[in-house]
Amino acid sequence: MINRAILTRNILIGMVAGLILGSLFHLMTPSADGIIMTYLVNGLFDIGGSIFIASLKLLVVPLVFFSLACGASNLSDGSSMGRIGLKTLGLYLMTTAVAISLALIVATTIDPGIGMNLSTSTEFIPKESPTLKQVLINIFPTNPLKAMAEGNMLQVIVFAILVGVAINRCGEPGARIRETLNDWNGVIMRLIMMFMMVAPIGIFCLMVTLFANMGFSAIADLIKYFMTVVVVLLIHFALTYSIAIRTLGGLPAFHFYRKFSPVMAYAFSTSSSNATLPITLEAVEHGLGVKNEVASFTVPLGATINMDGTAIMQGVATVFIAQAFNIDISMTGYLMVILTATLASIGTAGVPGVGLITLALVLQQVGLPVEGIALIIGVDRLLDMMRTAVNVTGDATVSTIVARSEGKLDMEVFRGNSKPVTET
Ligand code: ASP
Repeated sequence: MINRAILTRNILIGMVAGLILGSLFHLMTPSADGIIMTYLVNGLFDIGGSIFIASLKLLVVPLVFFSLACGASNLSDGSSMGRIGLKTLGLYLMTTAVAISLALIVATTIDPGIGMNLSTSTEFIPKESPTLKQVLINIFPTNPLKAMAEGNMLQVIVFAILVGVAINRCGEPGARIRETLNDWNGVIMRLIMMFMMVAPIGIFCLMVTLFANMGFSAIADLIKYFMTVVVVLLIHFALTYSIAIRTLGGLPAFHFYRKFSPVMAYAFSTSSSNATLPITLEAVEHGLGVKNEVASFTVPLGATINMDGTAIMQGVATVFIAQAFNIDISMTGYLMVILTATLASIGTAGVPGVGLITLALVLQQVGLPVEGIALIIGVDRLLDMMRTAVNVTGDATVSTIVARSEGKLDMEVFRGNSKPVTET
């Protein structure tokens, strides 16, 4: 059995030590082919970090399926599923719209792009985005195994809910399957906890590799843009979420941040809401006390469609690019940005760097040059780490509020010491 506080401390030590060592390597070896870079950073540490990410990703599909099928099969009636779904979707959309509005307000106040004489040195070719019709049809799986093999989370979510609801209505055989699913859920949770034990080492390796390879020179050129995104991320993280938890959930925000902080370290070092999903779910259930029936639905859905941090980057980037190219966006243009960035963040997969690709959609919508993305690519890696931490915090915020409103938040767990990580 390991104490959660000790694990959190070890994770933070691993993260900070990796960041420092990686940055030192970066300063020491400007040429990428040195022995340190080849054998240590891009050899040993890269192997350690990649195996750690692979082990987290490995759990995502089985976890979402078993956990959500379990949760849906345990709900007493279909209407509560619908209610939870509506509340969750409504809150996800609302927090994202607040995030992007904040981004636009702060960015148009700071004016990060004015006076920048930047040219598009790198060419950026956007991927073609699917139509809304395709997006809607694609939510429904034709082959659940294919959906799982491809890691198509929305399809896996739909399949798991359908199976869960059917189990719920199946009487005696349903009860038997529910028990088996519950057992599987326990096994997967145990696996997550096993991986959590080695997380400090995995996170250390990831951070060394990332920071040793990261170019910091681009930050100096884009410091105003970079800082604007960071400021808005901080405001949204510290203010919007704490106000939401206090006013909509009637809960003290302090406990929330204290319990959830280790997950942010995972999100920061993996830059992926999807890879962090197992850890988010574990922390939301066992750290914050959200019952499985709610968490199993809200957390995977959030990791797939709720990206407040990404929307913030897209809002600031839009203003920055418009100013850098001396293009005036009208008031309707800004409203359009709010709408499209909210939709674009829904369409952003929870993997590293995708927010930059869906930014093309927002730029096209308001008539800005998509090549503008090339201006900000240089600093996006570090911003991706920070915005992913905000993305997962948004998922946990909404889960906690929805659980509280449904009477499915264990207040003892929320306030007190969470369960040790080896207990299920
Ligand atoms: N890396 C982000 C996430 O996984 C998505 C993005 O903004 O690129 O949440």
